[in-house]
Amino acid sequence: MDFRDSTEDAAFRQEVKDFLRTDLPADLKADDDVILGVGVGENPRDKDWLKTLSKRGWVAPNWPVAYGGAGLSVMQQFIFNEEMARAAAPRPNFLAIGLAGPTIIVHGDEAQKKQHLSGILSGEDYWCQGFSEPGSGSDLASLQTKATQDGDDFIINGQKIWTSGAHRADRMMLLARTDPDQPKHKGISYFLLDMKTPGISIRPLTNMADTPSFNEVFFDNVRVPKGDLLGEANRGWYYATTTLDFERSGIISGVALQRLVTDTIGYAKQSPRTDGAWSAIRHELAERYIETEISIALSYRVASMQAKGMVPNQEASITKLFGSELAQRIAKTGIKVAGLFGQLREGSQHAALGGRFEGWYRIAVGSTLAGGTSEIQRGVIAQRGLALPRG
Ligand SMILES: Cc1cc2nc3c(=O)[nH]c(=O)nc-3n(C[C@H](O)[C@H](O)[C@H](O)COP(=O)(O)OP(=O)(O)OC[C@H]3O[C@@H](n4cnc5c(N)ncnc54)[C@H](O)[C@@H]3O)c2cc1C
Repeated sequence: MDFRDSTEDAAFRQEVKDFLRTDLPADLKADDDVILGVGVGENPRDKDWLKTLSKRGWVAPNWPVAYGGAGLSVMQQFIFNEEMARAAAPRPNFLAIGLAGPTIIVHGDEAQKKQHLSGILSGEDYWCQGFSEPGSGSDLASLQTKATQDGDDFIINGQKIWTSGAHRADRMMLLARTDPDQPKHKGISYFLLDMKTPGISIRPLTNMADTPSFNEVFFDNVRVPKGDLLGEANRGWYYATTTLDFERSGIISGVALQRLVTDTIGYAKQSPRTDGAWSAIRHELAERYIETEISIALSYRVASMQAKGMVPNQEASITKLFGSELAQRIAKTGIKVAGLFGQLREGSQHAALGGRFEGWYRIAVGSTLAGGTSEIQRGVIAQRGLALPRG
C-alpha cells in the first residue's frame, strides 16, 4: 500500500493536528492506562472534553452522520485515531461510543436508537459490557446467566465478572441465555439493561494496577422490559460478534505505544545508565522502536483493507496479538532503562517519569487477556490464516 496521505487526507490530518494543538488542555493528556481502556471514565473532566470534541462532530467520528457521527472515510477515521493517540488525547466513554453505540446503530430498532444514542454522544450515559462470566471468557458462548420470559418482560438471574466500569455505568450490554435447549451459540439474547433496575448488585474487584476498574455483577430476579431486547431473541450471539469486532479493532494503538517508547528514549538520553547496562539497553530501545513501527504498519494494513471494503480477520488478530505483547515488552524495557528507580511508584520523589514505567508494567498485563487472549488470537491466525487443522 501507499503510506502517503492523499491530498484530501493530508488536509484532514492537519485539521485534526491544529484542533488538538489549540483545544486539548495540556493537563488533560490521557494516562497510559486509558490507552488500554482500563479506568476509562474515571476523570470528572471527560464530559468537558466530549463537549469540545462535539463542537467539531468528532465525539463518534466513525458513526454515520444521521446518528451524530462525522461521516469520515475509513482512512480519515484511522488518521483521526492516530493523531488523537499521538497527542495523548483521552477517548472517554469508549465502551459506550466505541461498542454500545455502533452495535445499536447496526442492530437496534428506531426507538432504541432514539433512546440511547444522544445520551452516549453527550457523555451522559456510561455503558459497561456484561459478557464474561466465571468459566465463560474465551468460551463466551457457554455463558449461563439466564433470561426467562415473563409476559412482556424477561427475568434475569446469574452473574458476570471482569465487568469494567460497572460501578459507574448507567446501562449494560448484557448477554443472557434465553433458550437452554438450543446449541450454545443459538440460545443467547442481547439486552440493553438499565443498571438501576432492582436486583442488580455490584462487587468491586481490585486489579493488580490498583485501578478502579473491574467488578462482579450479580442478577437476582432482575426484570427487564421487552423493549430492551436488542434485535430478536436467541440471535444475541450474532449481535455480540458485532460488538466484539468493534472492541478488537480499538484496543491497542501502535502510535500510543510509539509515544511511550519515544518518552522512554527521552528519559534514557537524560539519565543514561552508568552501571555497564547501557550498551544492552541501547539495543533494546532500538528493538522496541522498530517493533512500534511494525505495529503501526500492521494497523495500516487493517485500515487499508477496511477502506477497500474487505473484512480483516486474522489480520486484526495479528495486529492485536503483536500490539498487546509489545505493550508488555515496552514495560519491561522501561523498567530496565530506569534501573531501580523504574520500580518506584507514582508519588515517590525518586520515581522515574513519575512512576510511569512501574504503572505501565502492571497495567500492560491485562492487554494480552482483554478482547481475546493471545492464545485465542494465535488459534485464529493458525486456523483461519494458515489453514492449520484444529488442535
Ligand atoms: C483489562 C480487562 C478488561 C476486561 N473488561 C471486560 C468487560 O468489560 N466485560 C467483559 O465481559 N469482560 C471483560 N474482560 C474479560 C475478558 O474478556 C476475559 O478475561 C477474556 O476473554 C479471557 O477469559 P477468562 O478470563 O475467562 O480466561 P479463560 O478463557 O478461562 O482462559 C484461561 C487461559 O486459558 C487459555 N485458553 C482458553 N481457551 C483456550 C483455547 N481454546 N486454546 C488455547 N488456550 C485457551 C487462555 O488463553 C488463558 O490463558 C476484561 C479483561 C481484562 C484483562
